[in-house]
Amino acid sequence: MTMLGDDVAVVGGGLVGKAAALALAQAGLRVSLCGAREAPAQAAQGFAQRIYALNEASRDLLRSLRAWDQIPGQRVQPVQAMRIAADGAVLRFDAYAQGVESLAWILESDAIERALDLALRFERGVRAMPEPVAEARRAPDGWELELGGGARLHASLLVGADGRSSRVREWSGIGLRSRPYGQSAVVCNFACAAPHGAAARQTFTADGGVLALLPLPGQQVSLVWSAPDALAEELRQLAPEQLARRVEQHLDALQAGHLAPLQAAGAIGAWPLVLQRADSVAAEGVALLGDAAHVVHPMAGHGLNLGLQDVQALAAVLGRRGAGEGLGQLPLLQRYARARAEQVLALELATDGLHRLYSPGLRWMAPLRALGLRATDRLPLLKSWLAGYASGRSVLS
Ligand SMILES: Cc1cc2nc3c(=O)[nH]c(=O)nc-3n(C[C@H](O)[C@H](O)[C@H](O)COP(=O)(O)OP(=O)(O)OC[C@H]3O[C@@H](n4cnc5c(N)ncnc54)[C@H](O)[C@@H]3O)c2cc1C
Repeated sequence: MTMLGDDVAVVGGGLVGKAAALALAQAGLRVSLCGAREAPAQAAQGFAQRIYALNEASRDLLRSLRAWDQIPGQRVQPVQAMRIAADGAVLRFDAYAQGVESLAWILESDAIERALDLALRFERGVRAMPEPVAEARRAPDGWELELGGGARLHASLLVGADGRSSRVREWSGIGLRSRPYGQSAVVCNFACAAPHGAAARQTFTADGGVLALLPLPGQQVSLVWSAPDALAEELRQLAPEQLARRVEQHLDALQAGHLAPLQAAGAIGAWPLVLQRADSVAAEGVALLGDAAHVVHPMAGHGLNLGLQDVQALAAVLGRRGAGEGLGQLPLLQRYARARAEQVLALELATDGLHRLYSPGLRWMAPLRALGLRATDRLPLLKSWLAGYASGRSVLS
């Protein structure tokens, strides 16, 4: 079989891989996207199970990839308010007070993927192949890849966007630090009895869990309940209507009692949670993006946002490379690694720090934690900085 050749092989057709293929092609590179399966069609009723909160930087990236405008407006819920409640205190963020159009945008994973698929169809610089990569070997001037269907491919740069169990990370000999949280995220969508007010709500539970309700278009919310594994397993086994009753017990803590009764609007799903980081996101001829590079706790709703900002940084570094600078050269790829180091570390420290701070062993700190939350709520400058950081604006500026 003849060997196909491109500048870059992106391995992984998830959201980050598809966005990376588009961004790198826009930067003038010829890209093979391996494992590019089409997104599922839009659900006939209700919303899909995987729901994401995208920040401003991610929205802007999707816009520049000509994907954002393909997402039907009625499937996107702008977030006008955020409420983080714990120990009887509340931290409030409002789009109006922050002077922004929206604090985040809530939408289905599948809707983003369908929009990326459409953009890919019109992007001539991308060769999209549904087959996964079975094997990859270093070769002169890059990598040689063997695809599931038997096709072979040569690329100067291998981009790993193949998720938390990345084979690209393995093939390139990059190590991994990984720590399970002992929690799983239980998700389900619910219809509410009253308007949600475009507010995203989150609370820390006494067992160290985190319960979040994200607003969906219309009068629905998406639950992300990061619960200790045993409880998560119990919740996963419930009928969706029984889960609704369990969530209602937390509505007062979420300052959302008016949303009851909740009515299940989909099936229950669960994902085990880990904190994970590759020892490096760049090696000679290799760059890692998204969950292949880092996995964080979903409490801040930032994993995908981090991945999309990896895409933006890599495309910027490769697009600005000097004449004669090879795509796989380590000094070039280290510029990408440096560009991403601060934000990823900050988010890991913030989410992991909060996870520890609200662990059951630190119950005695509840009054202090409440004091901290109330003090933060009264400091407009600190709140603006936090909101700017969460939006991705302060990182990119
Ligand atoms: C419950 C929960 C809620 C979350 N909520 C949010 C949120 O609100 N906002 C947010 O920003 N993030 C959120 N996240 C994080 C987000 O889900 C991930 O960070 C994001 O999906 C990672 O995307 P990815 O493309 O890097 O990886 P994946 O989605 O894992 O995609 C990897 C792809 O690579 C493919 N692949 C694997 N191996 C190969 C191979 N050998 N060849 C070809 N293809 C291969 C896989 O089939 C897959 O399609 C949440 C996570 C969880 C668990």
